[in-house]
Amino acid sequence: MKMTSKDYVAYLKIVAKKLEENKDYITELDAATGDGDHWANMNMGFVKLMELSPELETLAIPDLFKKIAMTMMSVIGGSAGVLYGSAYMKAAAVSQGAESIDLDLLAKIVQAQLDGIMSRGKAQPGFKTMVDSLYQAQQRMEEAMKAGKSEKEVLTAMKEGAVAGMEATANMEAMRGRACYQADKGVGHLDPGAVTMCYQLETLADFLLQ
Ligand code: ADP
Ligand code: MG
Repeated sequence: MKMTSKDYVAYLKIVAKKLEENKDYITELDAATGDGDHWANMNMGFVKLMELSPELETLAIPDLFKKIAMTMMSVIGGSAGVLYGSAYMKAAAVSQGAESIDLDLLAKIVQAQLDGIMSRGKAQPGFKTMVDSLYQAQQRMEEAMKAGKSEKEVLTAMKEGAVAGMEATANMEAMRGRACYQADKGVGHLDPGAVTMCYQLETLADFLLQ
């Protein structure tokens, strides 16, 4: 695989569409466990990224990631904006000098995004957050790469991990985010941030597998 900035923007466009289509579902999840704004926050970020897309396509990979980080930080309100900002700043740092993204760089980007979110949010896997989907995706991707699996298998493993991590949040008690303050700690509900993280990882895998 070889993903250019133009490809990355094409991928973001599919995420933007997927978010747009899931307004009620994501809003209801955040209404059950938080304050109901997660969809609106994420959607605002992606609408802005789409407005910027002609410019984003022309940027080198590290600059593209920096611009995405700054946009998400300034446009997405709430915790998610800061966390995605950290994720994309870390992604920019590991992409220095890259003209495109190959599988090895993608693995480094996923790892860097995970580190960025975990350190900024002081969150661990199992805390019922967006980290859970990203962590499982990263773990399964790394395992598949270490086992010498094909590119297709590695991307499929990443996608399956993202879904498994997202699904696992349903039974977790929240240790971070607004769901901690609910009497039931959000048990029985998926974490909205894990669901939107999963959308992004799934879409990325599908985009690269097509
Ligand atoms: P807010 O919680 O400020 O209203 P959002 O609703 O946009 O922000 O985002 C909520 C999501 O952010 C949660 O579902 C969770 O996945 C994630 N989240 C919140 N706090 C943290 C944290 N400290 N670490 C990691 N993820 C977090
Ligand atoms: Mg919220």
